[in-house]
Amino acid sequence: MEKEYYVCTGCGLLCDDIELEMEKDLIGKVHTACRVGVAHMKESPGEAEYLVDGKKVDEKTAIEEAASVLKAARNPLIFGLGTSTNEAQKKAIELAEKLNATLDDTSSFCLGPLIEAILQEKFKTCTLDDVRNKADISFFWGSDPADSHPRHLSKFSYFPRGQEKQRGWEEERTAIAVDIRKSHTAKICGNEFYQVPPGGDAEFIEALIAGLSGKLPKTSFKFPPKKLLELANILKGARFGVIFVGLGLIYSLENLEPLIKLMDTLNEKAKGDFYLIPMVGHYNMRGFNETLFEKTGFVNSVKFEEGSVKHGPGYSVVESLKAKTVDAALIIGSDPLASLPHSIAKQLLEIPLITIDPCETLSSRKAKVSIRSGVSGVEAGGSATRMDGVQVPFRPAIDAKRPSDEEILSKLMEAL
Ligand code: SF4
Repeated sequence: MEKEYYVCTGCGLLCDDIELEMEKDLIGKVHTACRVGVAHMKESPGEAEYLVDGKKVDEKTAIEEAASVLKAARNPLIFGLGTSTNEAQKKAIELAEKLNATLDDTSSFCLGPLIEAILQEKFKTCTLDDVRNKADISFFWGSDPADSHPRHLSKFSYFPRGQEKQRGWEEERTAIAVDIRKSHTAKICGNEFYQVPPGGDAEFIEALIAGLSGKLPKTSFKFPPKKLLELANILKGARFGVIFVGLGLIYSLENLEPLIKLMDTLNEKAKGDFYLIPMVGHYNMRGFNETLFEKTGFVNSVKFEEGSVKHGPGYSVVESLKAKTVDAALIIGSDPLASLPHSIAKQLLEIPLITIDPCETLSSRKAKVSIRSGVSGVEAGGSATRMDGVQVPFRPAIDAKRPSDEEILSKLMEAL
């Protein structure tokens, strides 16, 4: 019998080679996944649950209550969606348009600018399959996949044999890490770990560009010029190099100009080509960014208004809450009350909240309407966009008792 494979939605890697052993219609054993994926897929599926003001109600009552909150709002905020399918995200964008809502996701305070620049073709990018098959340099900058995406190194970036890399990491691949601390990934990189002080990345980039251009690299934190020149030489010899950019680098840079300059220099000086892949954490944050970009030309922080779209930092979740411009919030698969700074998140307690989430969260506990949805890949099918932009379709592993985000959002649309 042909083996059946499932997709893990535990992180932005969307591993599509997961084998499951079922026990009484539930997932008994998970094979191939990492420890995060096993926990994610085995998380016991729950019953459907609809709450209004903390009291159990039926589905119709919860949807009608949520619709009346949204109808009454002058400027509702729709936020989250990094752990929803592409199909649910499309529905949420339709909903935002219909409601003249402000729409944002977590990328407005993490990798959004980088993904926007990739979609605007300011960086060369490639797929993870290209990395496995061809890459000789995997450069982890401000990212630690050994912890955040546990199968990244074994499935794609360092350990596997690839079509053009049959001799593997022992002879044909070099892994490099730049970070402010010796992360688990940095330990795997051995001598090719370059430690920078917090906020020192832009200066390190400048010095590396100097080294690549045959000049003496200097930094105010006195990074040994000899070691920087050695790094420049390794990079110059690359035939297929990839920089995996994490939040550590993005938070350290004021803007993307130094990174654009570095990629241009690498592509001019190296033997082969250099590419960049963002280390997206939530399994479908990139999907949200791409779908919104296709529709509006922006990856996040938009406000729909009678057929037109406004965009800017003022429409991000953080600034909208700070300025108190939103008067209701629909939160999908996110917990801003727990994750945003209290000084900003507390504004959510002043407006009616609706949450759609598989888990009970601080936000769902404070919500006027709370609906439990099924976990994608376990209870709900659909598709998602991997961190490198590849579309990954998936089907549910079990018969769900809970509705998917897409189903809930469709019903909400009908009720409006
Ligand atoms: S690396 Fe990510 S997608 Fe792959 S099994 Fe682990 S959690 Fe799931």
